Amino acid sequence: MSSGDGSTLPSAELPRLLDVLGAKGYRIIGPTVRDGAVVWETIRRMADLPIGWRDQQEPGRYRLERTDSRDIFGVVHGPQSVKPFTFAPREPLIRIERTSGGWSVHSHLQPAEPIALLGARPCDLAGLAIQDQIFLRGPYQDTAYAVRRKGLFLIVVNCTRALPTCFCRSMETGPRATRGFDLALTELDEVMLIEVGSEAGQAILAELPVAPASEALLAEASARIDACARSQIRSVERAKLPQVLYEVHDHPRWDEVGARCLACTNCTMVCPTCFCHTIDEAPDLTGQRTERTRLWDSCFTHEHGYIHGKNIRPTIKDRYRMWLTHKFAAWHDQFGTSGCVGCGRCLTWCPVGIDVTEEVAALLASDSRKQQKTVSQRHE
Ligand code: SF4
Ligand code: SF4
Repeated sequence: MSSGDGSTLPSAELPRLLDVLGAKGYRIIGPTVRDGAVVWETIRRMADLPIGWRDQQEPGRYRLERTDSRDIFGVVHGPQSVKPFTFAPREPLIRIERTSGGWSVHSHLQPAEPIALLGARPCDLAGLAIQDQIFLRGPYQDTAYAVRRKGLFLIVVNCTRALPTCFCRSMETGPRATRGFDLALTELDEVMLIEVGSEAGQAILAELPVAPASEALLAEASARIDACARSQIRSVERAKLPQVLYEVHDHPRWDEVGARCLACTNCTMVCPTCFCHTIDEAPDLTGQRTERTRLWDSCFTHEHGYIHGKNIRPTIKDRYRMWLTHKFAAWHDQFGTSGCVGCGRCLTWCPVGIDVTEEVAALLASDSRKQQKTVSQRHE
């Protein structure tokens, strides 16, 4: 962040941002506390935001606690990323009806409601960029995704506190957002530092009582974000991935993790980049009409591995190995990027606390041992 590229808004004036967004026709969606977790909800007033709350996350554990702080964005994140707003968990696609001459097909596609998403995190934006690549680039564009994506105004909040489960620094996806936002906020003491990332963001900022940010404030924001990066205790050593993963297909670690994994699918549901889906066809009893719906699916289910006449991933070990190898290796071949953005959600929401960073490290360690053996053989 350099001098002159930020504005400040007193935190007490944040309701003005809600007013301006509302006046522009956006439904504001932001974090709110519900049933012991932070989830996305419609935000009508400041009190809907999780002011004073903090999240504690570890593998297999999520807790919210109240603090004396007046921080608005003290909670880092909940189980949901931005994904449900573009790649809907349940997307009605078409309705087919019998007519006197045959069939008629009706699309369910509607213009998307403009949504201003307040409080996305940098890793969420990195996940969204990957989903954009999957659904929008290439020979086919997913129209339902494209419509939803077009209506999204993104207000990211840079992270100044890392969870023990975060490893965005090693994946180079955070804790500062560098692109893909309309507005970026950094919450400081009683003041928000605001960066503009798009023309739409500039139009909103123009209606707020902001002042240019001082050098001291910009330096303070940078220092807090850098400290957040340094405090991350987990990381993924990416230098040798994906080659090593392709070579460890028969590693005994897959048996160990396969024995722990419950195939519950939680990790894939919370992951900002996973995109597996299935199509459900629901004909009515009269045979006059059928509804076709796209639903989120997971490579951890037995059914997902079924290909005509055979299941290609019959065991949980097969499915975990496929998921991890796809994320950290094959994804590079398919999309030119890792399939993981280091958000840590799959660690937190795994009921048995399987830690993907630990699994990758164990597999990489076998490669180091192999290399050490080769070196010592050479010296013999
Ligand atoms: S694999 Fe886990 S840490 Fe990586 S992006 Fe998905 S949920 Fe986040
Ligand atoms: S969340 Fe954990 S137990 Fe559930 S499928 Fe994923 S790795 Fe397996």
